[in-house]
Formats: sequence, C-alpha cells, structure tokens
Amino acid sequence: MSFPLSLSRIFYPVTTLGPGRRIGIWFQGCSIRCPGCISADTWSQKESDVTVEEVLSSLDPLLADADGVTISGGEPFEQFAALGMLLIGIRQKLSPGKDILVYSGYTINELGGRMQEIQGLIDALISGPYVADALQTRPLMGSDNQELHLLTTLGRTNFKQFLRDRLAADDKFDLLMDDDGTAWMAGIPKPGDFEKLRSALAERGVTFQTTEDRHSRS
Ligand code: SF4
Repeated sequence: MSFPLSLSRIFYPVTTLGPGRRIGIWFQGCSIRCPGCISADTWSQKESDVTVEEVLSSLDPLLADADGVTISGGEPFEQFAALGMLLIGIRQKLSPGKDILVYSGYTINELGGRMQEIQGLIDALISGPYVADALQTRPLMGSDNQELHLLTTLGRTNFKQFLRDRLAADDKFDLLMDDDGTAWMAGIPKPGDFEKLRSALAERGVTFQTTEDRHSRS
C-alpha cells in the first residue's frame, strides 16, 4: 500500500536540530500558524506530492552516514498516517544507537492517544507551539513553553544533554540551498537574529526576504 505524503524538503546534513549530523525531513502543511514562525513557507496545505515509500528510498544513501533523523514542518501530526508509516520505515532502516527526533506544534495533551499509537517509534519529541513573546532559554526550542520529552532509552541517552540552558554554542544555523537556488536556514534563531542578519547584509548591498515576510500576513 502506498501512503501519500505532502513534503516540504529533505536535507542532509543538518547539525542544529539534535545531536550530530542528521537527516532533516520537513512536512508541508501546518494549520497552527504561530505568529513569528520562521517556517511559514511550510504552512500551506498542498496535494501530497510523494509517497512515504519514495521518501524512504531517498533516505537510503544518507542513512549510513547520518547520526539520526529529525522530522519537523509544517506539522507532522497533521499527516498522522504518513508520519506513522515513515517512522516505521525509518526505524527499520536506522542502525542501533541512531535516534529519531520529532517536532510538533501541538502539546503532548493535544497529541493524546496518537502518541500511544506510535509508541517506541519516536525517541525524543519537542511539543508545543512557538510563542514569540515567551522566554527562549533552552536549546532546540524556540520558546520556553515547549517541552522536550525523552520517550525511549535511546532518547534519554542522546537527548538528556539538552536538558540545560541554552549556550552560546547553540547560537548557530545550517545554511542550506535548494536546487532552485533558494537559500534557507535550519536551526533555532533568537529573537532579532534575522534583523541583525538583514542589517549586516544591507550594509553590503544585499537584501533578502524571509518566509515570515512573505507568509505571516497572508
Ligand atoms: S512553529 Fe511549528 S507549529 Fe507553529 S506555525 Fe510554525 S510550523 Fe506550525
């Protein structure tokens, strides 16, 4: 059986969303629409353009080298059937010791019984919406209302290091380039980072538009 999946992008390596060099998988479509979200390009719903099987095949060349997989979005739990099948497939392919981290804009209570259905497939979950005016003092999270859940023994081993305050070393991005030349960044920016970047580039005659500029008022 073929499972459709609406996908934003896959990239490797991503070094800012979990330990090591990771495969990043971004789902397309999020109805939560947190003000200030830096992934506004993933909000719009679109027809599923790939299947879970195709995504799994595309990961094959990467899995031996990758330290783990991070699934984000968009909102992965809004494509729950595809997420479940993808997790099963990745888990079958991943070597022991390599983990799966998933981001969701829903709280753990809102995810409810769905977490039971995929028990054991996610090692660590970061849950909750981005709240622009909340404090941001912890690594891997955009706002302090979000929660890091260590769901498996592997998750506890690999992610307990992130149960601490955010350090200067956490202030970094992956700069990534799509095939069409669109540049984008993965990571957890601090408030004002894009404005600093915009000012620094403007001094050099370079202007850019963020996805928040383009989408948050739509
Ligand atoms: S932060 Fe996450 S949950 Fe919130 S709008 Fe952006 S993609 Fe959706």
